[in-house]
Amino acid sequence: MNITKKLNHLDLKLIAIIKRIGRFADKHNIRAFLVGGFVRDIFLKIKNFDIDIAVDKQGINFAQFLSKKLNLKIISHQRFGTAILSLGNLKVDIATLRKEAYPYPGSLPVVREGSLADDLARRDFSVNALAVGINKDDFGMVFDHFNGLADIEHKDLRVLHDKSFLDDPTRILRLVRFAARFNFSIETKTLNLLKQARLAGALENMQKQRVREELFLIFEELEPEKAIKLLDKLYGLKFIHKNLRLAAADYQRSVKVREVCDWFEREFYSRRKIDIWLMYFIVFLSGLEVDELEAICKDFVLKRGESIRLLSFKRSQDIFKKLNKASLKPSEVYNILNPLSYEVILLFFAEIKNKQARRHIINFFKRYNLTRIKLTGNDLKKLGVRPGPRFKELLGLMFKQKLNSRLLTKYQELSALKRLIR
Ligand code: ATP
Repeated sequence: MNITKKLNHLDLKLIAIIKRIGRFADKHNIRAFLVGGFVRDIFLKIKNFDIDIAVDKQGINFAQFLSKKLNLKIISHQRFGTAILSLGNLKVDIATLRKEAYPYPGSLPVVREGSLADDLARRDFSVNALAVGINKDDFGMVFDHFNGLADIEHKDLRVLHDKSFLDDPTRILRLVRFAARFNFSIETKTLNLLKQARLAGALENMQKQRVREELFLIFEELEPEKAIKLLDKLYGLKFIHKNLRLAAADYQRSVKVREVCDWFEREFYSRRKIDIWLMYFIVFLSGLEVDELEAICKDFVLKRGESIRLLSFKRSQDIFKKLNKASLKPSEVYNILNPLSYEVILLFFAEIKNKQARRHIINFFKRYNLTRIKLTGNDLKKLGVRPGPRFKELLGLMFKQKLNSRLLTKYQELSALKRLIR
């Protein structure tokens, strides 16, 4: 099968770059193929700007050469002849064809150079094991060693061999992620192999740190609750924490989180980007106790900022109750909310029904959070205040007044400051 026509219908920028990569490969006597999710998504008619390329030799050199010729930035070098290049929203992954062997279940693979057939055989599912030639003599030619095309057509996910999940249990997480994303079924034998992996405790036996990346990718999906629900049904969630149990309501909460994030991004598009994946993760873990969450932070080696947000959501439940009072002054609302991250505040916003508390949070985002005093240290010095603790105290008082009395101009601030000094 040849899909030159389909390739020519890709986004102009994509096809131009693919053709140039093919020509460079020809010039250097290298065989180059499109592989992985990029090929899968061509057949699924899904836009994908992450091009996966496999070459038969010297992946790193080829990537360095391409980066110079095509003016692409090399953003990372990885193990065994792979590199990632970027150009705006476009990413090009270059890897050398390889063969992998797993000395024991769940181990890191032993990797050496291999043929195209070896490289396709090491992959997770048949739908991800297609390759398309981009050299001149086989441009558009599809290499389908594992019947991936038929599986795409039947919307089936199928592993390539019986030991797949035992070799690399993170494929279980990939399986539910793709099944949920594409609404694909899991082929019967693959389902049985998954059950065997569950009985063998494949994910539980793995270091959590090694599961982390694939687990977090689930939370980056548009509707992660679908994949988590499927994971819970087919494998269970004990590998995350032995006491983790989810009920129907927990999946509903995740929908709420999405609504709140959509609202926030629409209304406050210029603020910092929120880590929505972390919010989903926090929501699903919120039934656990603080010490259990601390264990998760440690086992999954969460970054400091991630751990702080995860724990602070649990620890701040009482703090948020204070927002139910209508009589709170803006500065009081500010003092409650400002120490918390956007993610934690939005998670509460997704859950609370109290009208007053909701109003306070909206005001915090709309006004208080953006408030800055216009007066500077110099203005204070001009009024005779010497730098020191009094200086800081006055600026703090000014800020409070600015919030509570809505001082808008520098002149108003100055008058208020003079009154304070007096
Ligand atoms: P996405 O659309 O989420 O980016 P992708 O299929 O492009 O998915 P990547 O993680 O970028 O996934 O991996 C690229 C390719 O590498 C996959 O399509 C698959 O062929 C192969 N691959 C990735 N992870 C594994 C794994 N754990 N086991 C086997 N093959 C893998």
